[in-house]
Amino acid sequence: MLSNEKVVVADPSVIAGLDNYRNLEAAQQPTWPDLQKLEEVKAILATYPPLVFAGEVDILKNRLAQAASGEAFLLQGGDCAETFADATADRIRNRVKTMLQMAVVLTYGASMPVVKMGRMAGQFAKPRSSDTETREGLELPAYRGDAVNGYDFTLESRTADPTRLLQAYNTSASTLNLIRAFTMGGFADLRSVHEWNKGFTDNPANSRYENMAREIDKAIKFMAACGANFNELRTTEFYTSHEGLLFDYERPMTRIDSRTGTPYDTSAHFIWIGERTRKLDGAHMDFLSRVRNPLGVKLGPNTSVDDVLALIEKLDPEREPGRLTLISRMGAGKIREALPKLVKAVKDAGAQPLWVTDPMHGNGITTANGYKSRRFDDVMDEVRGFFEVHRDLGTFPGGVHIELTGDDVAECLGGSEHIDEATLESRYESLCDPRLNHSQSLELAFLVAEELAAK
Ligand code: PEP
Ligand code: MN
Repeated sequence: MLSNEKVVVADPSVIAGLDNYRNLEAAQQPTWPDLQKLEEVKAILATYPPLVFAGEVDILKNRLAQAASGEAFLLQGGDCAETFADATADRIRNRVKTMLQMAVVLTYGASMPVVKMGRMAGQFAKPRSSDTETREGLELPAYRGDAVNGYDFTLESRTADPTRLLQAYNTSASTLNLIRAFTMGGFADLRSVHEWNKGFTDNPANSRYENMAREIDKAIKFMAACGANFNELRTTEFYTSHEGLLFDYERPMTRIDSRTGTPYDTSAHFIWIGERTRKLDGAHMDFLSRVRNPLGVKLGPNTSVDDVLALIEKLDPEREPGRLTLISRMGAGKIREALPKLVKAVKDAGAQPLWVTDPMHGNGITTANGYKSRRFDDVMDEVRGFFEVHRDLGTFPGGVHIELTGDDVAECLGGSEHIDEATLESRYESLCDPRLNHSQSLELAFLVAEELAAK
């Protein structure tokens, strides 16, 4: 080589086409008034350590591949929208505990390994049906999640502020740190099944759980007496996920993995594409098709067979086991009609994605007293419909995707506590969609375990 010859080093992110999305239509992005600040923030984010390691992401993909082939079940749950204010030790612990309890119910009830995944440590951005919200004649930008703007209805709070992206990163990091501490440090030890139930109000779901915990205790004591080694019970895997919505966050968090030379979105283990941003030739599809993480796609009741086959081709052309999760959210009244043709076409095409039900987003209602809510019976009915459809077609119903909290809120109607419209007025906390509370979540887990065991 001549000494004055320039060495052109190929940039792996250029080769991977990570910025191709910029030429495409990007739905649901905020309008940032301060673009210079935005560029500064993106540059800072790009220097921050990854939140997850690519090796963990690969392990998750293997776990999801097991679920897709009927050997495991995915439990994915958490807030509709996490908030900075609620990233407290107590609330994170309650959500983790609720997920651990649900996982125990599923594992024990259905004798099946459960992959635990939070809508946690990154679920800070929301798609909205309208760009603005009007109250008493005042029109302001819609709340798009804590990563973008504040919920308070003032111009200052609703103005998109890029420094919130840094706070989203930091809050995700501290949330994930606590999750890792809980799940690796002994809190999630299966011998603590009773502990997780303490502090929750006494209701039928909790007492049913307590009975199951007693049986598990007995089984563990029996195994211990037989000389079993319980190191495996001490820790548990727990993965993170959120909707991949904001390019100004996901792109700087996407890094080339030094082991494989391929891109991973290191903001979470699993990223999903929402019903509103899954346009085939849109920016979200393009960008996420290029990262190696396992991906989810939400499918509403109007999804066509062509849509599904094309999105499989786009996101998973190699049919890589565990790569693609299809999350149907049809509504209780529609799932039995809308889902079978999709499942059948995918099966006939020889693809084996992981099928998951989101029984929340197709069942929204507004109550007479003005609350965004969901009927617990509708949620349960959509879960039943999901199992029926897969039973009929001989495919595996591989998971549930739930909006839940570990706290004693009243946001969804019904359940064993018979939450009614008036009760919503006293304990409604969500800034976005209504979540199952602790006991409703447990109740749902018992139903899913029964359906799975009867499969
Ligand atoms: C969500 O999961 O909060 C959401 C907005 O879902 P969907 O894309 O299914 O409407
Ligand atoms: Mn939601």
